[in-house]
Amino acid sequence: MKILVLNAGSSSIKYSLFAMADQSTLLTGLIERIGESQSVHRFRLPGSEPQATEKIIVNHQQALQELFDTLSATGSIREGELSCIGHRVVHGGEYFREPALIDPDVVRKIASLIPLAPLHNPANLLGIKESLRQMGDVPQVAVFDTAFHHSLPDYAYRYALPNALYKEQGVRRYGFHGTSHHYVAKQAAAFLGKALEEVNLITLHLGNGASVTAIENGNSIDTSMGMTPLEGLMMGTRCGDIDPALHFYLSRTLNLSLDAIENLLNKSSGCKGVCGENDMRTIHQMADAGNDHARLALAMYAYRIKKYIGAYFAVLGRVDALVFTGGIGENDHWLRQHCCSGLSALGIAIDDEKNLAPFHPCAAISSGDSPVKVLVINTHEELEIAIQAQTCLRQLNNKP
Ligand code: ADP
Repeated sequence: MKILVLNAGSSSIKYSLFAMADQSTLLTGLIERIGESQSVHRFRLPGSEPQATEKIIVNHQQALQELFDTLSATGSIREGELSCIGHRVVHGGEYFREPALIDPDVVRKIASLIPLAPLHNPANLLGIKESLRQMGDVPQVAVFDTAFHHSLPDYAYRYALPNALYKEQGVRRYGFHGTSHHYVAKQAAAFLGKALEEVNLITLHLGNGASVTAIENGNSIDTSMGMTPLEGLMMGTRCGDIDPALHFYLSRTLNLSLDAIENLLNKSSGCKGVCGENDMRTIHQMADAGNDHARLALAMYAYRIKKYIGAYFAVLGRVDALVFTGGIGENDHWLRQHCCSGLSALGIAIDDEKNLAPFHPCAAISSGDSPVKVLVINTHEELEIAIQAQTCLRQLNNKP
């Protein structure tokens, strides 16, 4: 069984093709700068050098045509061999608690959620519609970033706002990065030799966006991102938790429009706001060279993670493992060490040598006697989407 995973953005399409028998990757690619004067298509077959071509790709229709041509031209897919296409969809709102086989009703519901995810759902939908048009005979499944967090209890997902805003406008916390939190939770349980349903975890997905999730008996029971991905941890360019009254202050004192404030909090804040840079590797270089703004950004970033670890420890009561993942979580030993320092009262102790050692795809970096294991796990959101799409198809096929 071969499954193609598509992650359609407004000007890019990322894709991976998997052979599900052994979950191996057959092809990965990225088409970027769709609609610009020069687009780039990069792809890689396992064991070969990456290939890149520059051409003009005016829209998603042409991008998907290019993608499907590449699947045939490289021999990755032969006639009738593609079993399913899994689409990453950012916002599933309260409709989607699990992956959904795409039909006109699912498309309508994803479209109705655009007000909740105006930057992401329209692009995801464009990829779905075009893919249905070109590959209509292949079953297609939507996998939602929000779905893993459907198990949050109401007292965790509700904001202390009037009920009508929740009932009529869907104002609540949804959480994101669910595919990654779910994937690493399963990997962590396997590493610990337990069933997912048996483990309590705190999973930290630290990439350009960042979120932390409290997982009880395999279910997400709280997560740091909220109605939008802006809430929670400090991120590359997003502010994370702030005083909501800041909006009024910025509006009144600087006469900033709502759009300007939204842009400021999403694109010019977080690490970038504090030290002018959002790439964690560069921030470390700046801090090492004595830049105080970079040092402050690192200190704030680690401090805020530590606060969430403490909060989620209180929420869970018992924690089997703390899991680091995402580009920063997987690679930044300084940050891991600073997030965990001083947490021995919670039973968290890192082994410095293990923390520095390279790993793949999963390693424990806690000291031997640390009651809470600290794990570093490579996330693989595309593979998780393929697995969930496959499970969805199997469940539908087994229905009477
Ligand atoms: P995305 O959220 O876009 O998928 P990633 O998960 O790839 O992003 O994470 C990107 C972040 O990971 C960047 O801030 C980058 O600097 C950071 N990163 C990658 N490698 C390292 C490293 N060796 N040390 C520290 N940070 C790293």
